[in-house]
Amino acid sequence: MPLKTFDEYVSQAHGHICAGQILGLRMAIYGLKLLELDDPTGKHRKRLVTFVEIDRCATDAIPVVTGCRLGKRALKFRDFGKVAATFCDLEADRAVRVVALESSKQRANEMFPEIVGRNAQQMRAYREMPDDELFRSQWVRVKLGPEEFPGFKGERAICAQCGEGINFKREVVRDERVLCKSCAGERYYEPL
Ligand SMILES: [Zn+2]
Ligand SMILES: [Zn+2]
Repeated sequence: MPLKTFDEYVSQAHGHICAGQILGLRMAIYGLKLLELDDPTGKHRKRLVTFVEIDRCATDAIPVVTGCRLGKRALKFRDFGKVAATFCDLEADRAVRVVALESSKQRANEMFPEIVGRNAQQMRAYREMPDDELFRSQWVRVKLGPEEFPGFKGERAICAQCGEGINFKREVVRDERVLCKSCAGERYYEPL
């Protein structure tokens, strides 16, 4: 399905609509415009991978436009704490990183001093501000291993320690034993 209007995306965004989501929608629309992809959920569906860099509202809004989802391996999260995303066109082998400018908050304040409340002020301003006042963009190279591609299928491994199944290339070989990342020391939880 071809790109929709900004307002159509707004009505599709998660639960509430806020300045962060508007920024995310704008960011994704801008990224796709730079990549010259106008049908992200239709004919360009298999070409796109998106990296997101923050765990805030903007990140939830981006897949509304791009169609890239975590469960399709097309959405990658790198927790850099930045309102930024990189849009990769796998077929054209090019990628563009878009970051929201810190100055956009100040700019929103200058544009709509009469609106009370920062969120309301920013919601209005982020709809109307030109792309180059909201964002900075940069062409980048993103190296993806075959296992990171959306459609790649490979062998599953079994962890020699916990016996749990592991998807291809996510295993770790330590002293000739195949381990999951958890047993290899990257565990983020403590068993009770
Ligand atoms: Zn929000
Ligand atoms: Zn294990």
